[in-house]
Amino acid sequence: MSVSQQFGSDNYAGICPEAWDAMQQANIGSLTAYGEDEWTTRAANAFRTLFETDCEVFFAFNGTAANSLALAALCQSYNSVICSSYAHVETDECGAPEFFSNGSKLLVARTDSAKLTAQDVRSLATCRADIHYPKPRAVTITQPTETGELYSLEEIRALSATCRELGLRLHMDGSRFANACATLGCSPAEMTWQAGVDVLCFGGTKNGMAVGEAILFFDRALADGFDYRCKQAGQLASKMRFLSAPWVGLLESGAWLRNGAHANACAQRLAAALQTVPGVELMFPVQANGVFLRGPEKLLPGLQDRGWRFYTFIGGGARFMFAWDSDPARVDELAADIATCSAA
Ligand SMILES: *Cc1c(COP(=O)(O)O)cnc(C)c1O
Repeated sequence: MSVSQQFGSDNYAGICPEAWDAMQQANIGSLTAYGEDEWTTRAANAFRTLFETDCEVFFAFNGTAANSLALAALCQSYNSVICSSYAHVETDECGAPEFFSNGSKLLVARTDSAKLTAQDVRSLATCRADIHYPKPRAVTITQPTETGELYSLEEIRALSATCRELGLRLHMDGSRFANACATLGCSPAEMTWQAGVDVLCFGGTKNGMAVGEAILFFDRALADGFDYRCKQAGQLASKMRFLSAPWVGLLESGAWLRNGAHANACAQRLAAALQTVPGVELMFPVQANGVFLRGPEKLLPGLQDRGWRFYTFIGGGARFMFAWDSDPARVDELAADIATCSAA
């Protein structure tokens, strides 16, 4: 059954051929369980090659678990984590970061977009130094952000310099990390450990896998006991090869980056088409695979009447997200309907 493609979320997409093929290969024969298999070793090594460093690599089922457990590894229960008010850890993880850390509190900076500045970090980290306040221990940034924007390498370096000065660790939620690499054109190493990021959650699901995120510790000491933490949280897959093999497919073929670039190009395609539509404006610069737009009052109901699905949870505008499989012709149909509905 075929249904018209929708851009409500980048996890509407299926599994990309490279990930699917690797899963099929991993399905041949029987192999040892709980990550003691050659696919899992090969996937971890593919990350080490891609990031040009001997990092510790773990695999989890989803981003909520990856983020929460990574932050829990950085904190004691009396610590706190600085994030933007738009951060997924704050708005979309049902308190999991606090839960898995046994109470580490999120300290939320009221930001205009989802980008956190070094000044935001400094303000929250230094406003109190007494025993009654949860001691700041980590900062989490999302790259690209929940509002589809990017931190430049300079911005990441500025944040990490502030973190180091204040004794904070820097975590990156990279649920769309591939999209960020595709736009910035820098190496994964440059955007992470070389810029001072301590831990990265690298998203596989939105990049073309069925399920799965990788957690990379660039400072190996921080990963001490993380295997137990994953197991306790129900994140150790017994048939681990089906969580790790698709990474082999994505990373060794270069599909991870191609997928990100394609999704970004579709977002640019929509943004470009909207430039000539009077009354419709972009809410945030389009720098990754998402487009957030606002228009006349009749626009969003009109789009809904025409069957388009989208979320409005950020700032009341419509969010459209593109993925590895987004069809440019369908993007053009969306652009045409936006023009029609805003003029009607
Ligand atoms: C999708 C997403 C995640 C992961 O969410 P899960 O549904 O738990 O896999 C994490 N961070 C951001 C910014 C996301 O958009």
